Amino acid sequence: MEENKEVLEVSKNFIEQEIEKDLAEGVYDHVQTRFPPEPNGYLHIGHAKSILLNYGLAKKYGGKFNMRFDDTNPTKEKEEFVHSILEDVKWLGADYEDRLFFASNYFQKMYECAVFLIKKGKAFVCDLSAEQIREYRGDFTTPGKESPYRNRSIEENLQLFEDMKAGKYQDGEKVLRAKIDMASPNINMRDPVIYRVAHMTHHNTGDTWCIYPMYDFAHPIEDAIEHITHSICTLEFEDHRPLYDWVVRECEFENPPRQIEFAKLYLTNVVTGKRYIKKLVEDGIVDGWDDPRLVSIAALRRRGYTPESIKKFVELVGVSKANSSVDYAMLEYCIREDLKLKRPRVMAILDPVKLVIDNYPEGQIEMLSIPNNLENEELGEREVPFAKELYIEREDFMEEPPKKYFRLFPGNEVRLMGAYFVTCTGYEKDENGNVTVVHATYDPETKSGSGFNARKVKGTIHWVAVPTAEKAECRLYENIVDEEKGKLNADGTLNLNPNSLTVLPDCYVEPSLKTAKAYDSFQFMRNGYFCVDCKDSTEEHPVFNRIVSLKSSFKLK
Ligand code: ATP
Ligand code: MG
Repeated sequence: MEENKEVLEVSKNFIEQEIEKDLAEGVYDHVQTRFPPEPNGYLHIGHAKSILLNYGLAKKYGGKFNMRFDDTNPTKEKEEFVHSILEDVKWLGADYEDRLFFASNYFQKMYECAVFLIKKGKAFVCDLSAEQIREYRGDFTTPGKESPYRNRSIEENLQLFEDMKAGKYQDGEKVLRAKIDMASPNINMRDPVIYRVAHMTHHNTGDTWCIYPMYDFAHPIEDAIEHITHSICTLEFEDHRPLYDWVVRECEFENPPRQIEFAKLYLTNVVTGKRYIKKLVEDGIVDGWDDPRLVSIAALRRRGYTPESIKKFVELVGVSKANSSVDYAMLEYCIREDLKLKRPRVMAILDPVKLVIDNYPEGQIEMLSIPNNLENEELGEREVPFAKELYIEREDFMEEPPKKYFRLFPGNEVRLMGAYFVTCTGYEKDENGNVTVVHATYDPETKSGSGFNARKVKGTIHWVAVPTAEKAECRLYENIVDEEKGKLNADGTLNLNPNSLTVLPDCYVEPSLKTAKAYDSFQFMRNGYFCVDCKDSTEEHPVFNRIVSLKSSFKLK
């Protein structure tokens, strides 16, 4: 992956520049990053960017990378997601070693921080309702109004907060607020709520707590506890940074972390919103969160994307401060580039018609040595059986060909890939006029690798021998939405591409594919890159997903 490195070096991103400045100025003497998902759904390609960015920075500067679940909100989190997230992070190769943390394990420390702030006169218990708090907060043009409870004594605040913790109040009856500045132009600084009462069972701490910290208070403390240096997050938190800084400063953490924001990754022609994906799953339009048309990490893995291809993609996209959408074709480019030299090129017929070689011995099966990848000799060769009856692609024969059609038609000679030259001698049709069999004769002199060069042919087609063919199902995909046609309908529903999935139930593949396991991928010559579906493929009924076609509309600038 030499090439990737270059891309990175040339465009040293602004986060790297900040980190290098911090190290040079002695603000930090090490680098520690983290990936802090909320376990409330499956990870998607955007999260992959965040994971690889945080992990990559830690590696680059000899630092450490933590995996931390931000599980401070008991309403939305599920154990199921903890497992799927860890699987995805590991698959991407982001090694957190023994540093797997749960923010909920810091509840005691967060509580102590809150008490500390009360004692400093920097936090107070407020009895205003959620609605009143919103009213008092003001907006961009109106300054906020101070809460009538703002000037309670420290003793009273300590007692009331203790009572909140002891379960003496209902949800919403009282909150703890930071005492900052109701006139601040930044609304986040107008005495934000930092603790609330919520009588709820938490997936990790059970019923130990009935008060829970708010995200803006909890997150900086989590980072500080873990000695994170650079807390990298997405742009929507930029306005929260002054509050982040306030929390770590007022809680008096030594060597406090700093927050740096970057733009979220968006992709064209795909659906990333949890709400939309959930609906597609519930309506049975897609086959779960890992349907190969989605861009959850699980879906990309099932489709046949590799961690390397996703890394390459993330590197190409780079890190920026401006939101924009990346062309889906760029992701396709990256998987093609990754598989091109690594994976064998094999023969599979997606839309079969029989080719009978009338002068080839009946019952004979000849083993032909065919290179696995003409561009990479290291992959060696394999033995492919050849016989009198073959399957070829229906589109590789025409009764009456147009100009420049160099494949099979009566009287024309083509090369069978890795085998012999054959000349079309005729064909049979059924009562509906469909071609059922194509006839040909072969020239034994023309065997591939024999050095035959007495005459040339213009067309080369691929084939699979009938007696040893493996029947398989192939699934072809298109983007689930087409942005040029509009992502949404007038009523706000998704404008779905009706052709996003095509199932081809009667494909034939060469017998070398019999031993393929889930996720194994191949180039099916002339048809694209395919991989074994991890969910539906069995030995009796192999299923291959098309990862990507061979041709690209995308050009690397
Ligand atoms: P979503 O709403 O799409 O699930 P989120 O921000 O709520 O995203 P979290 O679990 O809170 O998801 O995020 C975990 C980390 O991933 C955060 O640091 C967040 O900034 C980052 N992240 C989320 N979406 C993207 C994205 N599209 N591009 C880059 N980073 C992202
Ligand atoms: Mg979230």
